[in-house]
Amino acid sequence: RRWWGSPSAKRISAGMPGTEESIKVAVRARPLNQREKKLECDICVSMSGKTVTMLSERNPKHFTYDYTYWSVQSGEGSQTEIFEDIGNSMLSNAIDGFNCTLFAYGQTGSGKSYTMMGGGQEEEDGGVIPRMIDGLFAEKERLEKESSQELQVRISYLEIYKEQVTDLFAALNSRNSKAVCICKEHPNVGVYVKGLKLMPCETQQDVMSNLEYGLKMRTIAATNMNQNSSRSHAVFTIVVNRLEGERPTGKKKDERKSLNAKINLIDLAGSERTSKAQTEHERLKEGCAINQSLSQLGLVIKMLTEQSKDGGLKAPMFRASKLTFLLKDSLAGNSKTCMMATISPASDNYDESISTLRFASSVKSIKTVAVQNKN
Ligand code: ADP
Ligand code: MG
Repeated sequence: RRWWGSPSAKRISAGMPGTEESIKVAVRARPLNQREKKLECDICVSMSGKTVTMLSERNPKHFTYDYTYWSVQSGEGSQTEIFEDIGNSMLSNAIDGFNCTLFAYGQTGSGKSYTMMGGGQEEEDGGVIPRMIDGLFAEKERLEKESSQELQVRISYLEIYKEQVTDLFAALNSRNSKAVCICKEHPNVGVYVKGLKLMPCETQQDVMSNLEYGLKMRTIAATNMNQNSSRSHAVFTIVVNRLEGERPTGKKKDERKSLNAKINLIDLAGSERTSKAQTEHERLKEGCAINQSLSQLGLVIKMLTEQSKDGGLKAPMFRASKLTFLLKDSLAGNSKTCMMATISPASDNYDESISTLRFASSVKSIKTVAVQNKN
């Protein structure tokens, strides 16, 4: 079955000028979980068209977004639907040389990882990432067969925990790579992570096995440090280079024209202020650094929305956390960006869901300018 439609196979053509675009915002409500069912929790959310309503007798609150997914009922708001709306266009944009970012935001247990990666063994449970990889390699095969272009795919995978950036691929195929990385900024390249391993992948299986390795490293690290993985941010990046013509043979210099893009797929730490599941002792031990990245994300977004309202130039403090530094382009620069806000529909989580929806609303007004990256 083809999930991915068909991005254009057109020849590499003149670069399009960048146009300002708002960050697209989607909201997804997951099904009630076992605990919520057992407690017979009420559902306090409803969705109609692009409007999400938080129900309350006296004062229902309405929010509108670009996309809404009512995954509360089985068969609705499916993984397939989300990929068709969001993943597919990100994929064709990346193949056309535009950087793309999708980040999942929401409280722990609201469905961020399920949306990004998937759950269960069934193909239809697959999230945006496996579907994107599937589509990418189908497109690679098609481009290389039908239009003598080459699509090169490389991936990286990092985690931010307590303001430390760890390369989850550091030990892949080598023993002495440094896992802890620093973020830098270059006037031409922009923000990058020094020494981050970029794995070339020839096949879909290459990507999937590297990805599984990275996920395993993430779990091992979490266990060793006695950390809760819902407190860390995971950034999976696919670098796509589309080159015109056949690969030069022998020692000839590769002078092909190319379109270049990065796809950032980000599974953020749980947005809850203080986790219900966490003891005071654990919170103290983890310190406040863990969510420095998340609170800074909130501050940067607030500044960016104020900037878009009054038109004035405030230099947002991207550098104040690893996450906002890494997301600088995705939030304010050269990227087509989408946010997936995930919520629980249960009345038990009313406060967290409202806070996620408010955050999602503020992100809607932020604008980025993607330009086609050509060489
Ligand atoms: P998070 O990453 O936000 O902490 P998860 O993605 O791990 O949350 O989701 C928590 C649980 O709920 C998982 O068991 C997951 O499979 C399930 N789940 C989340 N969203 C959905 C959905 N849309 N449909 C079915 N199950 C879901
Ligand atoms: Mg998760």
